[in-house]
Amino acid sequence: MRKPRLIISKCLNSEKCRYNGQIYDDKVISLLRKYVDLETVCPEREIGLEVPRNPIRIEKHDDKYKLIEPSSNMDYTSQMTEFAEEFLNNIEDVDGFVLKSRSPSCGIKDVKIYPKSQKCSISKKGQGVFGAKVVEKYSNIPIEDEGRLKNYNIRDEFLTKIFTINNLKCENSILDFHKKNSLLLKSYNEDIYDELNSIVSKENVDEDDINLYKNKVYEILNNKRDKITKIRLIKDCFRKYEAYLNEEERDYFDDLLKLYEKEKMPFSSIMVALQICAIRFDDKDLSNQTFFNPYPIELISITDSGKGRNL
Ligand code: SF4
Repeated sequence: MRKPRLIISKCLNSEKCRYNGQIYDDKVISLLRKYVDLETVCPEREIGLEVPRNPIRIEKHDDKYKLIEPSSNMDYTSQMTEFAEEFLNNIEDVDGFVLKSRSPSCGIKDVKIYPKSQKCSISKKGQGVFGAKVVEKYSNIPIEDEGRLKNYNIRDEFLTKIFTINNLKCENSILDFHKKNSLLLKSYNEDIYDELNSIVSKENVDEDDINLYKNKVYEILNNKRDKITKIRLIKDCFRKYEAYLNEEERDYFDDLLKLYEKEKMPFSSIMVALQICAIRFDDKDLSNQTFFNPYPIELISITDSGKGRNL
């Protein structure tokens, strides 16, 4: 069975390739190893830099960002840009990236920017040279850094997306994929979901339709899910069971939703309650929805602080 394919920075759990000869031990990457196929890359080693090496950084020269080694004033911008372009052009199949945060090479959003030849940084909002090329070329798939993946909600979204993309690639029929993922897709964007629905509802689905459908799945996953849509979807699902439940059960479910709205209850509790209904009423269409378990349950780390769990 195919697993999601990720490209990650090599210094995350794989090799002591940082400038100071260190490696990062990251819990999320350790957890992920069993469930995804990982390819690693260290752009700084790839352009010939040694371990250990002098630190490099991003400097702003007029309106250009440069990758500079301050101790020698060496400019590695062109080498890194060329490597990034060649590497990214030769990737055959990838579902997401996890890059090292704050790195002047791999960083995607929180890299320190320095003025030319000065000691203090002026901002922490830049991108590394390699990271910027990844974001530019692969805007349609999930790209995160290991720092952001420590947050439950960000990780939940990342995992949901890479496993949904993997499901899309594994499933032989877009109709089967659509049936199992309908609630999940709807939770991202109902208008695009309607477009997907009309593609699979056609009498004769040809190769162009399949390609269009797949592209639209990538498009829908680029949207952000919001709480209001999730609550509405859950209410729609629950409505068909209401007539078979007693008042106490209905009130209990309403209370759960109110607690979720006030961020006093995680979304997973609502999902469990709804899933119990699906099992009780033998509703296979609902219980098979990936909305409930978009990725392996073992990847829900118990070490989370719980901060922001109520997405
Ligand atoms: S952050 Fe990127 S370039 Fe730096 S050591 Fe890690 S993999 Fe190599």
